[in-house]
Amino acid sequence: MHSSELREEIVSAMLRKGLLCSERFPVVSVLDFDGIRRNIRALYDAFPPHVDVQHTFAVKANSLPSVLRELRLMGMGAEVASQGELRKALEAGHEASDIVFDSPAKTRLELKNALASGVAINIDNFQELRRIKELSLELRTTVPETAFRAGIRVNPQVGEGKISAMSTAGMHSKFGIPLRDLGMREQIIEAYLDHPWLTRIHTHVGSQGCALELIANGIRDVTLLAEEINLRVGRKQIQTIDIGGGMPVEFDRDTLDSRYAEYVDVVQSAVPELFTGAYSLVTEFGRSVIAKHGITLANVEYTKEVGGRQIAITHAGAQVAARTVFMPDAWPLRVEVFDAAGKRKPGGNECHQDVAGPCCFAGDVVATNRLLPPMVQGDVVALLDTGAYYASTPFDYNSLPLPGVYGVRKEGSSLRFSTLREPADFI
Ligand SMILES: *Cc1c(COP(=O)(O)O)cnc(C)c1O
Repeated sequence: MHSSELREEIVSAMLRKGLLCSERFPVVSVLDFDGIRRNIRALYDAFPPHVDVQHTFAVKANSLPSVLRELRLMGMGAEVASQGELRKALEAGHEASDIVFDSPAKTRLELKNALASGVAINIDNFQELRRIKELSLELRTTVPETAFRAGIRVNPQVGEGKISAMSTAGMHSKFGIPLRDLGMREQIIEAYLDHPWLTRIHTHVGSQGCALELIANGIRDVTLLAEEINLRVGRKQIQTIDIGGGMPVEFDRDTLDSRYAEYVDVVQSAVPELFTGAYSLVTEFGRSVIAKHGITLANVEYTKEVGGRQIAITHAGAQVAARTVFMPDAWPLRVEVFDAAGKRKPGGNECHQDVAGPCCFAGDVVATNRLLPPMVQGDVVALLDTGAYYASTPFDYNSLPLPGVYGVRKEGSSLRFSTLREPADFI
């Protein structure tokens, strides 16, 4: 959480230090590690102490190894979904035992490496299960099946959230094995009966836009399935339940507290069986860990009036805010305006303006017809809550400058910056 004053302090310090510089580095991103640390502490505190929980960070939300390293030092494991993310997690110092591997399209080689290294695997479908069985024969002399850390990803089909593209528990989602399709529940149970090394189970209901109750319903159905499987097997074969991530972030306001405690309350009342201490849990939060603690800053290069509308041409567009530009209704961002010295522009005389980016297509606009203080050349716009899935995962278009990413911490009364990614002339 950035208080409004802290934001102003950060913007003016970055301008003073030349981290945002109109000629060479006109767009930049910053992460507040004090806020992230408080947030991760809230995540740990939210779960009852008698429950063993491994909190992993969904690497796709911010895949810079320097960020992953900081998060690891704050106690997070890593949820990866490709060979590249796996390598970044290892580069950040993660042990295989801290890593969970999800992907709907794992190749034989990826699976073999994951099995051999001891990374936990969430199996997406029955073909993948068969593939792992074949690989287990190849690996027999080096890695016994009993050393596998694997479970099945189940789609509980509890329904979609507000953003269809972010929902993974709809009737037709591409992820996991659909629990409510005819005969599937029995087939999943039989898979566990046939493969005693399947000791985990996984679900991830969706990302932004899914209500806590929807997420809790999915977790409930998969936990009840785990209970049924263990009953049928006659022993506690499933020991670990991976409940995914997806806690929504409030992009429309400065939130004072993280909602992890509320998340745990809602899940606990939907599925008390999860919190008896009988299971180890894994979480995979991404956006909610860091989104609120990041800002993207960009220079206003020009301002113009077109058809009676004010437009600010800035250096932040689709290359750093792809989702917002392509799906503006699903991903609106708050925008603040600062002057060239980093002072927040005063309110009182706001007018409707578009905030456009530098990309050469007309839709490259991050905010449309927004009431903002009048902007002039040399001002700075701040896109708030962009710590996850924004500047750290750029969209390569027009070979625009790659924004530097910086970390910031309070040290006494001053701010200390660290470089998380050097800026570059183009992506
Ligand atoms: C994307 C994803 C997450 C993280 O989602 P957030 O909304 O960022 O918390 C977790 N698990 C899986 C399998 C995912 O695909």
